[in-house]
Amino acid sequence: MMKKIKIIEVGPRDGLQNLETFVPTDKKIALIKKLAGAGLKEIQIGSFVSPQSIAQFRDIEEVAKAVRRLRSVVPSALVPNRRGAEKALACGISRLIFFFSVSSKHNYANVKQSPQDSLKELKNICRTYTDLASTSIRVDLATAFGCPFAGNVTTAAVLRMVEKVAALGVQEITLCDTVGFGHPKAVEEKFRKCFRLFPEIRFGAHFHNTRGLAQANALRAWDIGIRSFDSSVGGLGGCPYAPGSSGNVATEDLVYLFESMGIKTGMDLKKLLNICAWLKQILPQAKLSGSLFQAGLPRTHKLSC
Ligand code: ZN
Repeated sequence: MMKKIKIIEVGPRDGLQNLETFVPTDKKIALIKKLAGAGLKEIQIGSFVSPQSIAQFRDIEEVAKAVRRLRSVVPSALVPNRRGAEKALACGISRLIFFFSVSSKHNYANVKQSPQDSLKELKNICRTYTDLASTSIRVDLATAFGCPFAGNVTTAAVLRMVEKVAALGVQEITLCDTVGFGHPKAVEEKFRKCFRLFPEIRFGAHFHNTRGLAQANALRAWDIGIRSFDSSVGGLGGCPYAPGSSGNVATEDLVYLFESMGIKTGMDLKKLLNICAWLKQILPQAKLSGSLFQAGLPRTHKLSC
């Protein structure tokens, strides 16, 4: 099992996508560069979706071109279909995150097609691009812990989807608690079964703190062997189905949790907190729900982590 923790920053993507105000391109680029400076090694820079579906990413090509050669950072981007993948690769983004929902209702609401049709798109992308040595594809299964329309999403439904994705040759799959329905028991059940049935797949976790359980879920996931976690600086973001609620688990809170247990993350907490302060200045309308930013570091904490 991979021992080292990998924290993937999703703030520029998941954090910004629900913001109604357009964030200027230079601010997006500055955010990504600051995150790289704080030690993040993989940063989701946005989504290659149509501007009609998410206007926030209408400048994604410009952002991609500005950050594609940042030293020691792998920029990745979400793609819902082959056209998105083509655009990402043309902009020099070679780490693609293909996403779709386990729940049909959510997939229709999000990308206007059935999960089966999303799988066909994925098959198409895998056929076309996995031969290119420099391209890597991760698949995000949204609503793996629950759906705002269909409610409970069973472990069996998640496993069926994992099986179909794995059959296409994908080696990395992230289970996403898109709307914050997850809890530690569900985390344990779903990931344990995934590990048992698909030992060849590298699984990751994507938790939202909609109902305050993201840190508890992350800890449970770590205990049973998950080593890849998505997070968003400041807890930037929200949930369109629970207005006013928290966004992703905050990067600095996750770093603080793991560092306090002696698990090295390679992040600079002080720099992460400075990014939160900067975000609050430039995006006063954005909700920053991270706890560490609100409370500050305890006096005894050593910053050299
Ligand atoms: Zn998310």
